[in-house]
Amino acid sequence: MKRKLVFATNNAHKLDEIRSILGERVEILSLKDIGCDADIPETADTLEGNAALKAEYIYRHYGLDCFADDTGLEVEALGGAPGVYSARYAGGEGHDSEANMRKLLHELEGVTQRQAQFRTAICLIEGGTEHLFEGIVRGSITEQKQGTAGFGYDPIFRPEGYTETFAEMGNEEKNRISHRARAVQQLVTYLSR
Ligand code: IMP
Repeated sequence: MKRKLVFATNNAHKLDEIRSILGERVEILSLKDIGCDADIPETADTLEGNAALKAEYIYRHYGLDCFADDTGLEVEALGGAPGVYSARYAGGEGHDSEANMRKLLHELEGVTQRQAQFRTAICLIEGGTEHLFEGIVRGSITEQKQGTAGFGYDPIFRPEGYTETFAEMGNEEKNRISHRARAVQQLVTYLSR
């Protein structure tokens, strides 16, 4: 029987990405697929902690092997902020990308050291045992927004070795080098052992 693994998300893009990498080997179930509509708490103060909280919630309530991810943008000159608070950097309920980018550009006004990295942590729970995986893409924060594709902080993040921001790159290229792709690749390598 094909192995089943819950991915603690309903984000269609993330589900497509991992299903296309894993192919036929593993059946990936979303939160919706297992009938979970809970608002799973993300109250930890690290990416690893939040990924673990989400995976542990599923394992505790459903007893299924599962994994969860959490991503943050870590800016060197800001001591790693916004980090785990990336989605709600500008306050409120979060996910206001325009407000988040405005705040970050404001914080970095006049700052020449603009190195930053996107980091994704994935926590897998397999038979009750936790495994952590990480993906990082290094780069820098531009002086202003460039490009309109993608989401989140893409218009102001330029990966190392590129002249374009994530928002100016094709999706295919971004998905090849991104933090999330790298973390997922670590997970896939582990699952394929
Ligand atoms: P999540 O853990 O994947 O929900 O990501 C948390 C936040 O990080 C998002 O709300 C975005 O603001 C930001 N983020 C995550 N991945 C990306 C990306 O690939 N590009 C730009 N922003 C991202």
